[in-house]
Amino acid sequence: MAEQKAHDNGEWTINRLLAWTRQYFESHGIDEPRLSAELLLAKVLDCPKIQLYTRFNETPTNEQRTAFRELVKAAVEHHPIAYLVGRKEFYSLDFLVTSDVLIPRPETELLVEHALAWCDANQHEEYHLLDVGTGSGCIAVTMTKRNPVVLAVATDISEAALRVARQNAELHQVTKRIHWIQADLLNLPPDDVNANRLFDLILSNPPYVAEKDRESLPENVRRYEPSAALFSGDDGLDAYRRIAADIRRHLRPHGALLLEIGIDQANDVEALFATAGLELVARHKDLAGIERALQFTLPA
Ligand code: GLN
Repeated sequence: MAEQKAHDNGEWTINRLLAWTRQYFESHGIDEPRLSAELLLAKVLDCPKIQLYTRFNETPTNEQRTAFRELVKAAVEHHPIAYLVGRKEFYSLDFLVTSDVLIPRPETELLVEHALAWCDANQHEEYHLLDVGTGSGCIAVTMTKRNPVVLAVATDISEAALRVARQNAELHQVTKRIHWIQADLLNLPPDDVNANRLFDLILSNPPYVAEKDRESLPENVRRYEPSAALFSGDDGLDAYRRIAADIRRHLRPHGALLLEIGIDQANDVEALFATAGLELVARHKDLAGIERALQFTLPA
């Protein structure tokens, strides 16, 4: 016991803070308790998360501990960790996030992965991409960052979201290759140069949660993430219906449409786009084996 005391002096070292917070988060049902504790402490210490490991025996100042305590308190009240730290990793890139945008999720990486694969399989000198409802900009920014000949147009109805998306484009130095439009899904303003353009590739993670499922969403999602990015009518399919109605004005023949879908929506969404004249190319599954994205093409 005495030895133990001599070892950590009873001080709130980084190591102890992380161990204590991990357990506290776990008992409050916070996802990824250890990672969440590290992200919050790294935020307060203003250092990369990885540095915590070389500073285990350091004792943060009283001010830092107070700031950390506030964040931990907010987290157990279900404030999303990404909003508390202002960042979220997506496709190995760092994205700025505020509560004006949906937090980028791993399932959306599936869209990007298959869109990049489509580019590799269909060699063009450049690719004109449309990202519908861009939010944080994670799809448009990642696509332009990962493929240097992608030129993107990205829409969002929310001006506040577009501000965040623009900052992410600046952060990743792809500003020159993305044109942002404030628009409701595919309702591009008629005077915009892109209003009548046909795109090679259209990607979207639209809102798709049914209103009736609102109460079943986790509290951190339901209370803090933007409703406009989540909910889409009684059955969750309204945004797809509206995209399907406009899609042929914007997708070029042989182009690709990739849509993220909610669990169990594959058949309904496939039917909507089949009615619009598109052909299903693939249903893509996530790591858990759940169909999470549909890929279509427009026959010539
Ligand atoms: N995948 C999100 C969720 O489960 C929903 C995102 C969306 O509606 N596009 O909360």
